[in-house]
Amino acid sequence: MAVDSTLPSAVSENDAKALGFIEEMTANVDSVQERILGEILSRNAQTEYLKRFNLNGATDRETFKSKVPVVTYEDLQPEIQRIANGDKSPILSSHPISEFLTSSGTSAGERKLMPTIHEELDRRQLLYSLLMPVMNLYVPGLDKGKGLYFLFIKAETKTPGGLVARPVLTSYYKSQHFKNRPHDPFNVYTSPNQTILCPDSIQSMYAQMLCGLIMREEVLRVGAIFASGLLKAIRFLQVNWKQFAHDIETGTLNPKVTDPSVRECMSKVLKPNPELAVFITKECSEEKWESIITRIWPNTKYLDVIVTGAMAQYIPTLEYYSGGLPMACTMYASSECYFGLNLKPMCEPSEVSYTIMPNMAYFEFLPHESSAPELSRDSPPRLVDLADLEIGKEYELIVTTYAGLCRYRVGDILRVTGFYNAAPQFRFIRRKNVLLSIDFDKTDESELQQAIENASILLKEYNTSVVEYTSYADTEDIPGHYVIYWELFVKDAANAPTEEVLSRCCFEMEESLNVVYRQCRVADSIGPLEIRVVINGTFEELMDYAISRGASINQYKVPRCVSFTPIMELLDSRVVSKHFSPALPHWSPEPRSHDAIIA
Ligand code: AMP
Repeated sequence: MAVDSTLPSAVSENDAKALGFIEEMTANVDSVQERILGEILSRNAQTEYLKRFNLNGATDRETFKSKVPVVTYEDLQPEIQRIANGDKSPILSSHPISEFLTSSGTSAGERKLMPTIHEELDRRQLLYSLLMPVMNLYVPGLDKGKGLYFLFIKAETKTPGGLVARPVLTSYYKSQHFKNRPHDPFNVYTSPNQTILCPDSIQSMYAQMLCGLIMREEVLRVGAIFASGLLKAIRFLQVNWKQFAHDIETGTLNPKVTDPSVRECMSKVLKPNPELAVFITKECSEEKWESIITRIWPNTKYLDVIVTGAMAQYIPTLEYYSGGLPMACTMYASSECYFGLNLKPMCEPSEVSYTIMPNMAYFEFLPHESSAPELSRDSPPRLVDLADLEIGKEYELIVTTYAGLCRYRVGDILRVTGFYNAAPQFRFIRRKNVLLSIDFDKTDESELQQAIENASILLKEYNTSVVEYTSYADTEDIPGHYVIYWELFVKDAANAPTEEVLSRCCFEMEESLNVVYRQCRVADSIGPLEIRVVINGTFEELMDYAISRGASINQYKVPRCVSFTPIMELLDSRVVSKHFSPALPHWSPEPRSHDAIIA
């Protein structure tokens, strides 16, 4: 068995304590899990949800597994709706639901609402507190400078019952845990809190980048949560460098930054520095962006961004901008629950494995075989415990949280790559059912299908239909965008759909996609959707190609998303016209209809 044990030696007493905690948790995975489940079940024993399954006070794994069903978000929606509507009785959790965390996962086109309780902030903070002690084992001297992190808050809404609904990071950055965090020399950011907490993301980005430029020599690490966020910051620099140079030269802040608290904190940071302005101009004016990160921030030791899962598509671009700096993927988390961390953060992105901390929640795993039938209530699935997983196998992650999610399917597929002490380590394989993703968006096959159907209604009056389609997440430029390949059947060539109609089809598709997609479009982290019309017979050629590579004719299905280079080349060589969405789709923080968020 591939078992790692004991990390290198800690650099400080604080770190030693954190690393000792990791040792203790990973060595005793099974007993910690048993205790966590016992705690969750006993404190939530009187909730309406658990009472339904007649546990009769039992808190053991066997009773729990035999009586409580495995559920999806849709199964819990009636309970979530009641909580959102203001029912304060203990429905899922004995502790009051403090707010809803809006996941980037969607249900019926709207963000999923994850209930949370106040104390979960402590658990999240605990996981954060383990990251630097691990990093310090591999990268010395991180207390001698700062981290340039692009961190943002997002719009929040209220449910009809008055609970706040917002993303988990917005909740964390606005909490006292973050705002009043004690000074830690290993965790000093270039961005003052006010810039992170500015609700206008453009002003926030502007101020954070400006701080990063001013403190360029102190910066030891550059990061964002996901790779897409860091690339957005680089693009922001490409577009705005002249204004930055001007602000730095004159020591005055761009008047477009109007947020009073940002202006106030920037007045302490920004002083005239003509020499730095000349430097920024020299580095940016040639519009050569290779290694721009290491040129502007020469002391950067690594990038701190998640490049696993859907973000792996950005690795080559980040390598280009950073001159090949290491990319550290430090943690694995979600709105439902924070899961764990990477104990070897400086490893290659393809080697990243996350170790789930057994104190975060109770974890179970559904063996994942792509051919396995979906779960049925009649034959309850056999879920495996954290301590009993097998190396090399893939599993779907199921959580039971303090906030009241019981045996909840997160939707992530993980592969066990080894063990650290008794704790399995996981490669993130993919999120179930996600076809396309550029930023936070996750578009599944049925959403894409629906969008295509809605758009093709516009083709009817031209006697035209979509014969076949596939899609591609094009991340060559920043921001990336969705490309949809269409093979059309045009009955009357004299009345074929015009360029104007086809670009309206792009827009109609965007309007049909889920709220997270539309929000990312409005925030300019996804570019306009593109339809590439291909010549008739292209999809047959695609099938021939698949068959020549061993696919069975009987089983062949058109892939609804492609990324394999020869297939892309084939498709692109058959393109007859390209069309782009001419406008931004509708988006507002409020769901399109109130029913949708809570129904
Ligand atoms: P959200 O519910 O919007 O917070 O998104 C959580 C999801 O993001 C997880 O369930 C994963 O699918 C994905 N995710 C989070 N952390 C990572 C990571 N380190 N690597 C890959 N995917 C991740």
